[in-house]
Amino acid sequence: MSEWTPIIGLEVHAEMLTRSKMFSACPVVDSVEAAPNTAVDPLSLGMPGTLPVINQLAMEYGLMVGLALNCEIPPFNQFARKSYFYPDLPKGYQISQYQYPLAVNGYIDITLENGDIKRIGITRAHMEEDTGKLTHVGHGASLVDYNRAGVPLLEIVSEPDIRSSAEAEAYARKLRAILQYLGVNHGDMSKGILRFEANVSVMHKDDKGFRTRTEIKNLNSIRSMVRAIDYEIARQIKLYESGDTVKPATLGWDEQNGKILIQRYKERADEYRYFPEPDLPIVEMQPEYVESVRQKLPELPDAKKARFMDVLGLSEYDARQLVAEQAIAHFYEDVLAAGADAKSAANWILVSLFSLFNKEGVDRETVNDTPISAANLAELVKLVDSGTINKGTGEKVLSMMWQTGDSPQAIVEREGLAQVSDEAVIGAEVDKVLAANAGLVDRFLAGEQKLFGALVGKVMGAFKGRANAQVVNKILQDKINERKS
Ligand code: ADP
Ligand code: MG
Repeated sequence: MSEWTPIIGLEVHAEMLTRSKMFSACPVVDSVEAAPNTAVDPLSLGMPGTLPVINQLAMEYGLMVGLALNCEIPPFNQFARKSYFYPDLPKGYQISQYQYPLAVNGYIDITLENGDIKRIGITRAHMEEDTGKLTHVGHGASLVDYNRAGVPLLEIVSEPDIRSSAEAEAYARKLRAILQYLGVNHGDMSKGILRFEANVSVMHKDDKGFRTRTEIKNLNSIRSMVRAIDYEIARQIKLYESGDTVKPATLGWDEQNGKILIQRYKERADEYRYFPEPDLPIVEMQPEYVESVRQKLPELPDAKKARFMDVLGLSEYDARQLVAEQAIAHFYEDVLAAGADAKSAANWILVSLFSLFNKEGVDRETVNDTPISAANLAELVKLVDSGTINKGTGEKVLSMMWQTGDSPQAIVEREGLAQVSDEAVIGAEVDKVLAANAGLVDRFLAGEQKLFGALVGKVMGAFKGRANAQVVNKILQDKINERKS
């Protein structure tokens, strides 16, 4: 066991998918696709004399997240000015929340590798506005795009309860799934719509309290976050073990070279000079309103998992895999709605479809855009469950469905793949195999039990794998028994 325990807290910034910005009617556009500075208005540009108005839907989305994260919703929240000077922030301050956030004291339950559940505390979630985007073009010049300035942003801060990069990954995936289930954020980290920052320190086994933390920014994927956290834990341990100290710093992750870059040391705490935003009212959260929003929440991953286990009889593991991504959970439900058996459908998705996706490099989130529709997968499941084709043929049909987009029924008919269960037909083939392999039969009868499998294989081979394996086994057994007597 190492003498050091990692201590990790995550800060997550999630844009809320509203049509207009946090404090004005300016439209929100795709930050990657839209031409720079095409979705701006006097407010996004921080023009003097402009006045903000709170986006009610953004507040409701934030409230939904707070409730989904099991937070308390204080009776009121308040916006505050967070002052700092940087070209991505034209007003010279960001409207955020400070003393009175929208949501506090929540948690997310994550499942550890050994199957145990661990609760990670959520300190707070508060609403704010996003900043513009800077692109550094060299020669001391930077370009600024204010399309993103003023987009509603929810900051979700965890307690320092996370103890490994694997736990951080589980937390990040769960939080991302919850946001997707709620429909408030589509979880695209590459576009910066969802951003993770990891605060990392390490604790020696003799320590009584936490040590200095560093903060890693620029994490463009969950995979990068995991790599960066592991790198940073190792860096800090090495510093301490060589008698050095860790200095508070903001770090960046260089994905290409797989290493941490020190962006700036923090000699003292940032001075943001927070004060209540004088241009906005305090926001009261009436209990009836909060309850009405709670009632409208969709079924979230934990509840869906419990239902899949209790009502459909799935194992904990299968249920967890199916709910982990909203797109897969919905696809599975569509397959069931098309009449497939719950356990068979779970098996086909988690084993066969996922291995096909892995082989083809398909992102599970795009399950609805592949050639295999939920209706067709349901039909395949039914063809196998009813014995029209056997499992092995089903796998072949699945890959043909992938290539052609055709329905399994059409493929089975076209390729003549229907399973042969006719006892007379199978019996005739068994007779031929027994006659042609008299030596094997004698050795089997003399006690070499495992040769039975070889004989089954020869019969299946004669049918190109399409015979009903149960019928083949039974007839073969019967006919060999006849020879014994
Ligand atoms: P700041 O504004 O300085 O970023 P926040 O309160 O927004 O502060 O976030 C602090 C984050 O750092 C939280 O996620 C918290 O859990 C985490 N944290 C606090 N202390 C430590 C520590 N010693 N090691 C690792 N993470 C920590
Ligand atoms: Mg921070």
